[in-house]
Amino acid sequence: MYISNDELLEHISAKPFRLVSEAADELGVEAYVIGGYVRDIFLNRPSKDIDIVAVGSGIELAKRVAAKLGRRANLSVFKNFGTAQVKCGDLELEFVGARKESYSHDSRKPIVEDGTLEDDQNRRDFTINALALCLNKDRYGELVDPFGGLEDMDELTIRTPLDPDVTFSDDPLRMMRAVRFASQLGFFIDPDTFDAIIRNRERISIISKERIVDELNKIVLSPKPSLGFDLLDKSGLLPLIFPELCALKGVETKEGIGHKDNFAHTLMVLDRLSKTTDNLWLRWSAIFHDIGKPRSKRFDPRLGWTFHNHNFIGEKMIPEIFRKMKLPMNEKMKYVQKMVSLHMRPIALSDDEVTDSAIRRLLFDAGDDIEDLMLLCEADITSKNPEKVRRFLANFQLVRSKLADIEEKDRVRNFQPPIKGEEIMDLFNLQPSRPVGVLKEAIKNAILDGVIPNEREAAYHFLLEKAKGMGLQPVKSLEL
Ligand code: ATP
Repeated sequence: MYISNDELLEHISAKPFRLVSEAADELGVEAYVIGGYVRDIFLNRPSKDIDIVAVGSGIELAKRVAAKLGRRANLSVFKNFGTAQVKCGDLELEFVGARKESYSHDSRKPIVEDGTLEDDQNRRDFTINALALCLNKDRYGELVDPFGGLEDMDELTIRTPLDPDVTFSDDPLRMMRAVRFASQLGFFIDPDTFDAIIRNRERISIISKERIVDELNKIVLSPKPSLGFDLLDKSGLLPLIFPELCALKGVETKEGIGHKDNFAHTLMVLDRLSKTTDNLWLRWSAIFHDIGKPRSKRFDPRLGWTFHNHNFIGEKMIPEIFRKMKLPMNEKMKYVQKMVSLHMRPIALSDDEVTDSAIRRLLFDAGDDIEDLMLLCEADITSKNPEKVRRFLANFQLVRSKLADIEEKDRVRNFQPPIKGEEIMDLFNLQPSRPVGVLKEAIKNAILDGVIPNEREAAYHFLLEKAKGMGLQPVKSLEL
């Protein structure tokens, strides 16, 4: 993580930093950039959130900086928290006074008092997050690193500055943060720190589900999310926050036949998919794709292990799990359900014999999410046999080209019925009733099955025929 002094200064050369320096000297307080911004300088990661600690009043310092910036600045003061924010262009500076924190057992909300820089660094979660850069003129750019944060950065280590049992027990969210940073940055958790997570894991129960899921989302979005999930598993946190995923673990053998470990498989799918997409909800779909397997598992003496309908069982399990974990119960959830329910379909289409009708139906059911579904299905091929993988992926190429051909021909991806329900009611003088639904569905099926083309005139003739069979006579004609 070597970085020259000039490079370091370059990262604090923007005007707002210079103005913090001036303002701090005028007020006679020490001021430091601290935490994530300093860490990310050494990790060469771009970062826009800048935390400034004043040994004194953070709010006073923020006000003076805002006054110096004039009209370019936007100041917000949060008196209750003793913090203030100054926005200037795309930089966001958060100001706070150095503080000392003490915790009680049943809450992660500390009692806060004014403190020194050292007190403030002591309350930080990890050594790499406790680095401070002085902004006062005579010490501009001086690094204050009391816990060997730079060394830990070199050794890719996540370690707490103080006794990890205290750090984690005080604020158990830090256990999730340790795993999240390890996963995001590709770091290792120091063994003593990790053992303390194992010992304190039950304390996670005092953390709100929303905060846990925020960290989980960051793990899911990291370059290789299995790193994070493996750590959650090994620390014993996973069964406490996501037991349904744990239930995928293990291999059962009967009559000498075993099945694959679905937890390991799921993580492999997630990693493979993460190489092709940053879409958080597609990545969650990979996590959930086999969630129904434990409930659908059967042993058949002739077939071996089967997981019939695990996709539909998984789809049905999702709302309850989303509700418990405080994942969003909106169209994002519906998307994950759709991916899970459809994930077995493309593989069944790779046969040469497959009909256009089956392809049309998949296009209709997946709609605009067909591309995402194909990415998930391709990631789902985790066989160790390279010949098998090659064959499956080649088959998916075939499915993709069939999908493209049919879509060009029949445009069913965003299917709109060529004749609307109201028109059917008008035509036969019907109230909203079952026959209207039957007729609508019959038109849709005729198009998807290729009986008629996806066109209004063809649909009209088909409708008249079908209605006649049901004893319905049109009372007018339809404009074509
Ligand atoms: P990111 O921006 O990637 O979410 P970050 O750590 O840089 O991570 P914040 O979560 O805003 O951003 O935290 C800013 C700093 O505050 C951290 O670097 C750390 O020093 C401190 N911090 C944040 N949360 C905690 C916590 N729960 N316990 C102790 N220190 C914390």
